[in-house]
Amino acid sequence: MDDSTLDHDALMQRVDTMMSRGETAPRLARDPVNLPQINTWLEAIGDPNPVYRETTTATRLHGGPVAPPAMAQVWTMFGLDPHRPAHDPLHGTMQLLDEAGFTSVLGTNCDQTYARHLHPGERVSITTRLESVVGPKRTGVGEGYFVTTRSTWRVGDEEVATMMFRVLKFKPAPRVDRTRITRPQRNADTDFFWEGTAAGELRIQSCGSCDALRHPPGPMCPRCHASNRGYVVAEGTGVLHSFTVHHAPQLPGRKLPVTIGLVDLPEGVRMVGELMAAPDHQWRIGDPVAVAFECIDDDLTLPVWELDVPRPGLAPAEQDADDDTETLPAWELPVTTTLVVAGALATRDFQDVHHDRDLAIARGSKDIFMNILTTTGLVHRYVGEWVGDPAARVTSCALRLGAPAYPGDTMTFTGTVVDRDHAQVVVDVVGSVPVGDHVTARVTVALAGEEVA
Ligand code: ZN
Repeated sequence: MDDSTLDHDALMQRVDTMMSRGETAPRLARDPVNLPQINTWLEAIGDPNPVYRETTTATRLHGGPVAPPAMAQVWTMFGLDPHRPAHDPLHGTMQLLDEAGFTSVLGTNCDQTYARHLHPGERVSITTRLESVVGPKRTGVGEGYFVTTRSTWRVGDEEVATMMFRVLKFKPAPRVDRTRITRPQRNADTDFFWEGTAAGELRIQSCGSCDALRHPPGPMCPRCHASNRGYVVAEGTGVLHSFTVHHAPQLPGRKLPVTIGLVDLPEGVRMVGELMAAPDHQWRIGDPVAVAFECIDDDLTLPVWELDVPRPGLAPAEQDADDDTETLPAWELPVTTTLVVAGALATRDFQDVHHDRDLAIARGSKDIFMNILTTTGLVHRYVGEWVGDPAARVTSCALRLGAPAYPGDTMTFTGTVVDRDHAQVVVDVVGSVPVGDHVTARVTVALAGEEVA
C-alpha cells in the first residue's frame, strides 16, 4: 500500500540532522537589484507607485528609484537553474518528504518583514534555516508534514528583509471514492432536496398548508398533518450546534476521519452534514458555517459545511452608521493566464505549475495557478494604491494562503484597517476567488514622516 522506504522515525532523524546544521552559509543573489527586473515586475503586477520608476520626481523621496519590498525574495530565487546548493534546508526537506511518499506541496504561510528599501546596484545574500517539521497531520488534502523555514536577506552584514515560509508537504488522497460511497435513498419526498443540491441550492421542505419548515423531508407536516408540500431555498448559513469526529468504523468510499456536524439554520431547522475546514482548523460549537456543494458525480451532489469566515469590507453598505471601521474599496481583478505566467516569470519562479498548463494538469491541478510571490505583489499593490502616498513604505506582510487562483477566476480584494497611528497603518486584506479565500494577509505600512532609507 505504501511504497515509501522512509518511516516517520527515520524521517525525523534526518530532519534533526538538517536542523542541527542551523543557518546556511550566505548565498549571493545571481544579479544585483536592477531596473530591468523591477520594470518587468511592475508590468506584471501593475503596481503604479512612482517611487519604483526612474523618471519621476517621487523617486527622490527614497534617494532614487527603489525596488518594491514585495520583490525581496525575487533577487535570490533559483530561476530555471535546476542546481541547488548542498544542504539547502527547504529543498533538502522536500526531497526527504518525497522519499517518504509525501509528494505534493502546498504553500500555507509566508510572513515577510522589510527593514528598508533596496536600491538598484545592491546585491543581497540569503541565509536560511529549517525551523520545524511537524507531522504527520491529517489535513483536508491528505496526510502531510508542515515544514517551516526562516530566511534572512542581507546587504553586506546589514539585515534588510526576513521571511517565515511554511508549506504543507502531503500525500494527495481522494476524499471520496465515488464508486464505493453510500448513496442516499431518494424518493418522492426527498427528490427536491437532491435536485436542489445539484443546482447549488439548499432546499428546506415547507408545508403547503401552514408554511411550517421541516427537515429531514417527509410525506406529512408534523404540525398540521397536511400532505401537500413545497420548499424554500435556505440562506445557506448556519451555526454549529454539535459535531463528532468519526474515526471508526470504516465508511465505504470515505477516507477517515470524517467530521460530521449538526448545523442550526437561521430558518429554524437543523441539518446534518460533513464539516470541511483548513487543514489545521479545530472546530468549536457555535462556529459560523456556510454551505458548499461537493459534486460527487452527475447523480449526487452533497451539501457540506465550511467555516464561514467573516469578510470585513465585502458589504460596507450594510455596516451600522455608528460603526467607524475603516474599509478599503473592493478591487476586482480578473486572473488571466497572462497574469499568472507573467507574474511567475517576473518573480523568477519557474515551478512548472505556474507556467506550464500540461505539466500542471499532469500533477493533478486543474490548471496553472498563481504563485505566492505574485499574490504578495498584488496584496502590496492593493494596500499601496489605497494609501496613495509615495513616501509610505510597506514594512511587513503576513500571508496565509488558501484556495488556488486559476485563470478565469475573478479575485476580489477587500481590506479593513485594524490599527492606525501617526507612524503606521495596519490593514487586513482578503483576496477571494469563487471557491473561497485565496489569501488573507496583514500588511503594515510606515507612513510618510517616518525616516526613509
Ligand atoms: Zn403544516
